[in-house]
Amino acid sequence: MTGQHFDVVVIGGGPGGYAAALYGASAGLNIALIEKKRLGGTCLNVGCIPAKELLETASVARTVNHAGEFGIETSALGIQWGTTLTRKQAIIDRLVGGLGMLLKNRKVTVFDGVGQLGVDHQTVTVSNGVETTTISGDAVVLAAGSEPRTLDGFPVDDSRIVTSDELLSIPELPGSAAVIGGGAIGSEFASMMADLGTKVTLLEYEKKLMPGADSDATKVVERSFKKRGITVRTGVAVKSQVTNEDGVTVTFGDDDETVTVDTVVIAIGRRPASETLGLDRTGVAVDARGFITVNDTCRTSVPGVWAVGDVIPTAQLAHVAFAEAIVTIKDILGETVIPVAYDKVPWCIYSHPEVAFAGHSEASAKDAGYDVVVSKHRFMGNGRAMIVGETEGLVKVIAEKQPDGTGGKILGVHMVGPWVTEQLGQAYLAVNWEATVEDVAQFIQPHPTMSELFGETVMALTGRSLHA
Ligand code: FAD
Repeated sequence: MTGQHFDVVVIGGGPGGYAAALYGASAGLNIALIEKKRLGGTCLNVGCIPAKELLETASVARTVNHAGEFGIETSALGIQWGTTLTRKQAIIDRLVGGLGMLLKNRKVTVFDGVGQLGVDHQTVTVSNGVETTTISGDAVVLAAGSEPRTLDGFPVDDSRIVTSDELLSIPELPGSAAVIGGGAIGSEFASMMADLGTKVTLLEYEKKLMPGADSDATKVVERSFKKRGITVRTGVAVKSQVTNEDGVTVTFGDDDETVTVDTVVIAIGRRPASETLGLDRTGVAVDARGFITVNDTCRTSVPGVWAVGDVIPTAQLAHVAFAEAIVTIKDILGETVIPVAYDKVPWCIYSHPEVAFAGHSEASAKDAGYDVVVSKHRFMGNGRAMIVGETEGLVKVIAEKQPDGTGGKILGVHMVGPWVTEQLGQAYLAVNWEATVEDVAQFIQPHPTMSELFGETVMALTGRSLHA
């Protein structure tokens, strides 16, 4: 029997689902939100927030290790991992609690349980292990998110072979670790563990770390990783593992090289969690990898059903899920929708050094057929970077080449170095507004800030410059 009726029923309480609920409720819609585990999804519980919290712990350790340069005396570094985990959990709990309050204040009805599409596209069942309730909505939004991918022959446990889920709560930091996968998540984990004393080997199948990032940026990361004792191996396939009392021996590469470590961290990407949604009942189309296919306003193949976030084949980022949720609610309301510009999404990687970019790298701009001109400047000469004691890194701006050799439209900005994740905002606006270098160069950058380097790098493309 069909119970309560809503304007919108959202399945999944992660960034995609809760953003659809909050934005929809703020527009006056009556919303139901179904979550089977814990509000906040991957991002708040086992993703962005805990990962960045542990990286901040690593940053504190680096600061303490370099305190002597500033004339501050410290005793030898001691890590109380239990305190770190408690702090991390307290931040998660505050955010999850705050989200619950926000949803309550906006009068979103939250159901605990597994949501599945019912007999038709407007009906959803919610099962909590005790009972099954049926609710309905004029529109349904699928936001089931994703789960870590695993590797055949690498059985996951709590400490020997782990994914991000287990690593983020690991009871003790390993003495040594092999991280499989040098994307954003793997690179962040490698950086964090190395700064906290783990001997790390990072194994990546592609020729370079961090797909999408300009190779000038990733070269800086690789150099820094190596300097800090991380063994970086790119262009190698991981083949197998053997676990015994000495640890886990991983075999990789064409020559069957091996490394024996306490812990293996699998960070090879995430698969869509579409299988619990009952998609076959209503015929919502999925691709060969299980991602729900959508059009540019996130409509699925079934009218009245939308899908957002990691469960669709777009960049798996919390802020992309937010953007897709907004697009979806506007589409449900019948408003004019500007689809997400997926080629210009901001990416931030919080390793040390940090990497942040939006738009084309030099290589991808050339592959797309642009005649480009680039400007690169290093943090080495930036006053604030010297004050902070972190001068490693650069800003690179890629622009369309004008007939006179100067830069025209800004196609991409790629940064590596201190606090670049906090500096990407204005670069992202420039790329997405399709600003020219002249447009941006006229704006003031406050002094002394790291962001002066972005202004200088853009200005150099006008053919004139100040310090750069
Ligand atoms: P999820 O967050 O996965 O949420 C889906 C929710 O749906 C889950 O709570 C799940 O329990 C629930 N669910 C699934 N099926 C059902 C069902 N049938 N019924 C009811 N509930 C269901 N992104 C960034 O932007 N920045 C970062 O710095 C960043 N760092 C990350 C670090 C790590 C270690 C990881 C793993 C991810 C990181 N991400 C980051 C990615 C980000 O977490 C995801 O892109 C984001 O959480 C996706 O949101 P979502 O709502 O689509 O899915």
